[in-house]
Amino acid sequence: MDDQLAALEAEVERRAAQVKTPGDLETLRTDILGRKGGRLSQVMAGLGKVPKEERAEFGRRANETKARIEARFAQAELRLGDAELERSLSQRFDLTFPGIPPRRGSLHILRQTLDDVAAFFRKRGFAIVFGPEVESEYYNFEAMNIPADHPARDAMDTFYLASGGLLRTHTSPMQVRAMEEYPPPIAILVPGRAYRRDALDARHAFAFHQFEGLQIDRGITFGHLKGFVSDLCRTLYGNERRTRFRPSYFQFTEPSAEVDVSCPVCDGSGCRTCGGSGWLEMGGSGMVHPHVLKSAGYDPEIYTGWAFGLGIERIAMVRNGVDDIRLFTENDPAFLEQFA
Ligand SMILES: [Zn+2]
Repeated sequence: MDDQLAALEAEVERRAAQVKTPGDLETLRTDILGRKGGRLSQVMAGLGKVPKEERAEFGRRANETKARIEARFAQAELRLGDAELERSLSQRFDLTFPGIPPRRGSLHILRQTLDDVAAFFRKRGFAIVFGPEVESEYYNFEAMNIPADHPARDAMDTFYLASGGLLRTHTSPMQVRAMEEYPPPIAILVPGRAYRRDALDARHAFAFHQFEGLQIDRGITFGHLKGFVSDLCRTLYGNERRTRFRPSYFQFTEPSAEVDVSCPVCDGSGCRTCGGSGWLEMGGSGMVHPHVLKSAGYDPEIYTGWAFGLGIERIAMVRNGVDDIRLFTENDPAFLEQFA
């Protein structure tokens, strides 16, 4: 029995010194110390055959041997750990190898476009104000000189809400809201989302972005409007752009004009983008209607002002050669990354 313990200890001593990997060490440990079928357990199983008076002595020796074997394994484990550390420290790294760049987000192209517009207005002293997207019929229509039975309401296919409100069809309601809040003179830019029950196609979306420019003071004329809008179009599309005002009709301005800008694609000679006309429609404009001024509590005998509204999507499409409005909301990274 004593011989078996001594032989086992010697074997462990020899094999542990040769072990190369943590996996091999674990295999050896199981082979020797495993609870079931371990070699030490097998020797211990012979305890019953030892004469009674020698059993206590044998048990003590067996426990001592087990403790020494465990210590030997711990030592081998340390040795392997050191070797592993040594190996990892001796590895060479190429510090000049390029890293993996993190994916960076960017401002959406509509946001970038609006920022350019806002910068133009801000430079000229305009305040930027925001209005509610859920509007009342009063602000969206009546205060804008569109009474309940007026056919102009049909043209603005409106989303009505169960609450009795509606989703604003334009950013113009803020004209009256701003005039109610601030005494004249005022100069504001109102950017925001507007909604119309349009069928979705390459040119129409049921939710879109607009901005409204409004300036009211003593002695404001149509000349101020033309100068301001022409300057804005040159800033957005380039210095060589020409602007044209076509007589038009809106309920809330008088006189009213559609704003066209010479096509930046063909420079006015006619192409697919401008439908061969050489001009692109930008939006509506005009002198604020006296009824609108009155609704807001301004005296139309003293104050006059201009207003115009343009679509952000429209500007972004023309400036960047985008031919489908749906691309702006589909969030396809391949599309958006072009403007990062
Ligand atoms: Zn063109």
